[in-house]
Amino acid sequence: MALCDYSLLCNFPKCRTKLSGFAWATACSHIFCDQHGSGEFSRTPAICPACSSALSGKLDIVRTELAPSEQYKAMVLVGLRPETILDISHRALAFWTYQVCSAYICFSSRG
Ligand SMILES: [Zn+2]
Ligand SMILES: [Zn+2]
Repeated sequence: MALCDYSLLCNFPKCRTKLSGFAWATACSHIFCDQHGSGEFSRTPAICPACSSALSGKLDIVRTELAPSEQYKAMVLVGLRPETILDISHRALAFWTYQVCSAYICFSSRG
């Protein structure tokens, strides 16, 4: 699947670093490298450097491991109802699609 070949890039203006290791994702569908995330989101109120949204909620910013361990993957959704699991997957895929589309990659080649 072509979408999987794409690496997310830091959304910080002029950074565009390929994300690896840890990244910071926001409720406004932006994602940042560890350096910019930890710098920008340590101050309050946190403001998204890509779109200026206020990120005041507890879960508006998450620091996420991009290549989680097998153990984490085996356990993170365990116990949730199937519709909840699908809902989470759906939202995470929407985030991915948004990122890839906003980088103008992949979708232009679709008939
Ligand atoms: Zn960055
Ligand atoms: Zn944003």
